[in-house]
Amino acid sequence: MKKPNTCEACPYSKTGFGFVPDDPGQNPLIAIQLEAPGEEEALRGVPLCGRSGRFWVDSLIAPLGLKREDVLISNTIRCRPPNNKYPTGDLRRDAEAFCRQYDAALAAFAPDLFVVTLHPAALLRQKAYTRLVIRDLSVAVEKAREGFRPLVLMGEAAMNLRAPWLGQGVTKWRGHWWLGDLQSAARAPRRADAANPNESGAPAFAEASR
Ligand code: SF4
Repeated sequence: MKKPNTCEACPYSKTGFGFVPDDPGQNPLIAIQLEAPGEEEALRGVPLCGRSGRFWVDSLIAPLGLKREDVLISNTIRCRPPNNKYPTGDLRRDAEAFCRQYDAALAAFAPDLFVVTLHPAALLRQKAYTRLVIRDLSVAVEKAREGFRPLVLMGEAAMNLRAPWLGQGVTKWRGHWWLGDLQSAARAPRRADAANPNESGAPAFAEASR
């Protein structure tokens, strides 16, 4: 898909390939933010389509009892970076910041809890990693059924948010870091094994994703 004119000021406006807007799903239970689109996705302008999409739906989403439309699918960077290499340093900062303008679906979803899964995307098809990612996704689904709006951050998307978390304190729950604001935590049933969320509350999504 051709990039919108609003990409023009971004360092990837000429070098990035394609443009893949988020798939908002239909009344999604959870949201997933990946790193950047694959080649087929950039060609078609659809996240998680083709072979990778089939793998996600059949091997990661379906085992949780969800359909694709139950999941909001987003990329941190909506075009494919040159040489499929996720940017670093200033380039990363700028590209991610410019891409925040396409966060409307995520903003409407209004995530109030982040589930981090740091497993490298390249290893996703190895059975051991597939199991771990399903475990991470199942945490998000379980919390969604308790009333949270979980956003699962994968790979670089997770690294992006990890640093701000460390400064604000996180709650460790069954091996996962998570952070929910106090209002959301109040409307969700508390688990006996979950510590209280951070007293300072969660950053708003737009702030946290910078
Ligand atoms: S990184 Fe985002 S803002 Fe920059 S060119 Fe790609 S899609 Fe546009």
